[in-house]
Amino acid sequence: MTKPTVILRHCGDYDPHRIEKIAADGLDQMGLQPHGRTLVKPNVVASGEMFPHAYTRPEFVEGILRALKSRGSKMRELAVGERSGITMPTRFAFKYAGYYEMAKRVGDVKLYHFDEHTQVEIPLYHQGRLRDSFFTPEPVAKADFFVNCPKFKAHPWTTVTFSMKNYIGIQDDRHRLIDHDHALNYKVADLQYITQPQFIATDAIIAGEGRMLTPLPYRLDLIAMGNNQVAFDSVCCHIIGVDPMSVDHIRLAHERGFGPIDLDKINICGDVPLEEAQERAQDFEVGLIRVEEYFKDTNIQAYSGPPPSDVDEYCWGGCPGALEEAIEILRVYDKTTDEKLPPMHIVFGAYDGPLDVKAGEKVVFMGDCATFRGKIAGNNVEVESLYRDRSEIDPKNFNVDDIFVKMAKVETMLLKNRNNDVMRIAGCPVSVAEQVLLLVKVAQTKNPYLDPKQVIGFVSCYLSMRTRTALKRVLQQPYQRSGPTIRGDARPDQNRAPDDADRDLEWV
Ligand code: SF4
Repeated sequence: MTKPTVILRHCGDYDPHRIEKIAADGLDQMGLQPHGRTLVKPNVVASGEMFPHAYTRPEFVEGILRALKSRGSKMRELAVGERSGITMPTRFAFKYAGYYEMAKRVGDVKLYHFDEHTQVEIPLYHQGRLRDSFFTPEPVAKADFFVNCPKFKAHPWTTVTFSMKNYIGIQDDRHRLIDHDHALNYKVADLQYITQPQFIATDAIIAGEGRMLTPLPYRLDLIAMGNNQVAFDSVCCHIIGVDPMSVDHIRLAHERGFGPIDLDKINICGDVPLEEAQERAQDFEVGLIRVEEYFKDTNIQAYSGPPPSDVDEYCWGGCPGALEEAIEILRVYDKTTDEKLPPMHIVFGAYDGPLDVKAGEKVVFMGDCATFRGKIAGNNVEVESLYRDRSEIDPKNFNVDDIFVKMAKVETMLLKNRNNDVMRIAGCPVSVAEQVLLLVKVAQTKNPYLDPKQVIGFVSCYLSMRTRTALKRVLQQPYQRSGPTIRGDARPDQNRAPDDADRDLEWV
């Protein structure tokens, strides 16, 4: 068997033509020819001047698209598709990332907003899966040549977000939030069964350090390309000095046969030797920090007990990390956020330690799994778990509130609790958006969703997304038996169901 390839190339700027040349070389070197429906999946979790290092830059995607075009005589369609961060219309993220202008410059490129598309159910058969099926947008299910274009970033929930973690954006909000808790790494590993990319190219020219939505820029001047997701992520981990086996989604995908982790089993080439890439990344910080530590020396005192899990002592993929992202967003919009926050206490999981609360200080129990029994400011308080086991959650009936409903709910909850110092925010997870809205209210700081510079664009993209989705629902067949055949090569052989090639898909 030929070894999977990872190519490391120097690229010191965002010149689309230089990127095109590098990507075309990569395609040729790996003998790849785009064909059929060719779909590029960037990372546009957030964009615009407040989130300049969160997303795959448009110049980068432009270079990749131009390279695909130059090798794409067998292509039927060339498209870019994404589901941006939860509650954010993808139209809004594309607009402020400059993707519409970029697509025009390249020409003949379709843009798919995954939140506006039919979601297709993909059955899962492998051992150890979280659930028996996943939903993914139709363009992903139908893609013949899938190109993964992540941004090279650290991640507060999963240590890193390279190629595999970029798959969280191939699910719409209501499916994405399910299992987005202490099982997040398992979810990312399961998502690998939906499809595997033929070509991977990561924007590591300016990488993102420390966080996911508001990362610090870190110059690596690199483009990494590959043809196997596990091998690719393993090499990226080695670049920043992280053991890939310590990142659960990479370890699981490796153990399930998706690809090698050992550098000996990977063909690493290009004009930047791995040692030089490591040297460039020697100060790169991943930012996997527990919430108690993260908020040390601030007005927020955080406490965390274990989530409802036999194996995990901390909910890395859920509410605590969302609070870290939330405060960083507010700090970007208002530098005085920390000063404006009154002393408060936020409790996660089954916490059974003391709470050091003074009279008049607010205590928030965050998430369905928060429990507590004890004294708060001299009063006996008991907080029961609202947690539902994941086996009870049916993706077909799972609903997620949009941002305006969330705003109204947070407002009502705070109004109801205006005379209470102890409150509970339900949800599993409580999203970054909800935690932002809570802190906005408590600190009386700027609401990023109502930022005057963007509010008109946001509302217009939101209404456009809502209208198009409603129209599609009316016009489309609610159910159709003969779906596209998912490529068999998406899954390692040993995990394939016997009748895999014949399965049908359902439109919901
Ligand atoms: S409620 Fe929050 S902290 Fe608890 S399991 Fe769910 S995501 Fe994790």
